[in-house]
Amino acid sequence: MVNVAVIGVGAMGAFHADALSHRVRGARVSVVSDLDADRAGALAETLGARFEPDPIAAIGSSDVDAVVLASPGFAHEKQVLACFDAGKPVLCEKPLTMDERSAYALVQAEAELGRRLVQVGFMRRFDREYAALRALVESGELGRPLMLHCVHRNPAVPDSFTSEMALADSVVHEVDCVRFLLGQEIVAVTALRPAATGSAPEGVSDPMLVLFETEAGTLVDVESFVRTGVAYEVRTELVAEHGMATIGLDQNLLLRTAGRWGGAIAADFVERFGQAYDSQLQAFVDAAAQGTVTGPDVWDGYAAVAVCTAGVEAVSTGCRVEITLGARP
Ligand code: NAD
Repeated sequence: MVNVAVIGVGAMGAFHADALSHRVRGARVSVVSDLDADRAGALAETLGARFEPDPIAAIGSSDVDAVVLASPGFAHEKQVLACFDAGKPVLCEKPLTMDERSAYALVQAEAELGRRLVQVGFMRRFDREYAALRALVESGELGRPLMLHCVHRNPAVPDSFTSEMALADSVVHEVDCVRFLLGQEIVAVTALRPAATGSAPEGVSDPMLVLFETEAGTLVDVESFVRTGVAYEVRTELVAEHGMATIGLDQNLLLRTAGRWGGAIAADFVERFGQAYDSQLQAFVDAAAQGTVTGPDVWDGYAAVAVCTAGVEAVSTGCRVEITLGARP
C-alpha cells in the first residue's frame, strides 16, 4: 500500500484524493495538507487521513511514500524540491512551475539526483484515444505527420479568465499533446485573434487561433474557444502523408427517438477525461510502489512552460515567437 500525501485540496486535489481513496488500487491518502485548514481538515476526516498544515512537513513525513501536488502553480517549485530532498515520487499538477528558469532548474536538480521523481499531470497521455493516436503515429502506417488540427472548447469560464490564461491553462494541454503525439519539440508559436464572442469581456480575445511549428516542420493549429455556451469539446485531427485520423468525436450513445437523432457531448473536463485522470494516478501509484515515476517527466513539464511562456508573449504582442530550449541533461 502506497501512502500518499495530497498537497492542495481545492478542486483538483479533492478529485485526486477521492480517486486515490476509492478508484485507484494499492494506495491510500495518509496525509492531507492545504493552507485552508478547514477545507483540508474536513477532507482528512472523511478519508481517515491526517491533516498536516505545513506542506513541506507533510512531504517529509514518515507516513508518506509519495506526493500528489495539486497546490497552485506558484507553490510547485518549492514543494517539488522538498520531494527531491525527501527522495519521494511526486505527481505534480501542471504547470510544473510559473516560469522557464525555475522549470529548467528542476530539470537540472532531478538530473543531479540521478533518478526520476517527477511525473507531470498531463493526464491526456493516459486517455485511450490519445494513446491510440500516438501508437498510430509511431507505427508509421500513415507516414509522416504533416498537420494537426486541434480544438479546445469550454462551455464557460469566469470573466476573470484572460486570453493569456486561455493559453497557460487550456492550450497548455494541447502543447503537451502535440509533443506527445508527434515526439517533436515545438519551436515557434503565433496567436491570431478573430472577432471575439459577445460573451467575452472587453479586451479579451475569445476565440483564438494558436499556431505551433514543430522542429520537423509539422504545423499545428489550435482553436481555443472557452465561452462557447455549448459543451466541453476537445478534438484532434492528424493529417499525414497516407491518411488522416481523428479523436474526440464524442461517439458514444447515438439516440433515435420521437423525430430526433443524436448523441451527447461531455459537459466538462471530468466527464471527458475521467478515465485519463484515474489511469494517470494508477500509473503513478504503481511506479511509486517501485520508488520511481512514469509518464510525462520533468523535461515535458519544462518544455510546456517554455512553449506557454512564448505563447503568452505571442498573444500579447501579436508576433511569432520562437522557442529555444535549454540543453537536455
Ligand atoms: P484551487 O484553487 O481549486 O485549489 C488550490 C488549493 O491549494 C486551495 O485549496 C488552496 O487553499 C491550496 N493552496 C494554496 N497555496 C498553497 C500552498 N502553498 N500549499 C498547499 N496548498 C495551497 O485550484 P485547482 O483548480 O484545484 O488547481 C490546482 C492545480 O491543479 C493547479 O496547478 C492547476 O493548474 C492544476 N489543474 C490541473 C488540471 C488538469 O486538467 N490537469 C485541471 C485543473 C487544475
